Amino acid sequence: MGENDKLKSYREKRDFRRTGEPSGGERKPGNEPLFVIQKHDASNLHYDLRLEVDGVLKSWAVPKGPSTDPSVKRLALPTEDHPLDYADFEGTIPEGQYGAGSVIVWDTGPYRNLRAGKEGDGLDMTGALDEGKVEVWLEGQKLQGGYALIRTAGGEDERWLLIKMDDDGADARRNPTSTEPASVLSGRTLEEVREEDKAQNGG
Ligand code: MN
Repeated sequence: MGENDKLKSYREKRDFRRTGEPSGGERKPGNEPLFVIQKHDASNLHYDLRLEVDGVLKSWAVPKGPSTDPSVKRLALPTEDHPLDYADFEGTIPEGQYGAGSVIVWDTGPYRNLRAGKEGDGLDMTGALDEGKVEVWLEGQKLQGGYALIRTAGGEDERWLLIKMDDDGADARRNPTSTEPASVLSGRTLEEVREEDKAQNGG
């Protein structure tokens, strides 16, 4: 399946004459795959976790956002693949458009596939996704260390859980979604992006 086919669902949901979101295909993949977590105040506030895999961003909506406490399991609902250039998108998706609301990049950085094996003899990301068990090492500004994504239901009601793995990045007392709300790219909060875009568009 080509990159264009993977982004069919993404493109069908959006009118690129109305939304400032990227239409995709402009950014070349780097050497290190990227993760990004975007905070998005759509009809329900959520965090979008995205992992670069084979030229697209595999995506999940995480209503409560990631935790640094390994005993906490966070629901993660799969959403359509996004283009790589979505990784640095911040702004406000206009009313009436799919996902209307403001978006900031809450955290981003490179990631490693922990299931690849020391000799690279394990599973690649596609294999791990197919199996429903992804383990990645995040090197973000707010989140570091291993995170597991476990598929708990498939088909129409596909659901996953996002769980911090128990390593040096684990900390049951940290609560970065509350204490570190700002964008790692622009330093702005979601509220600031919303107000700036409102002012630009004449309220
Ligand atoms: Mn979203």
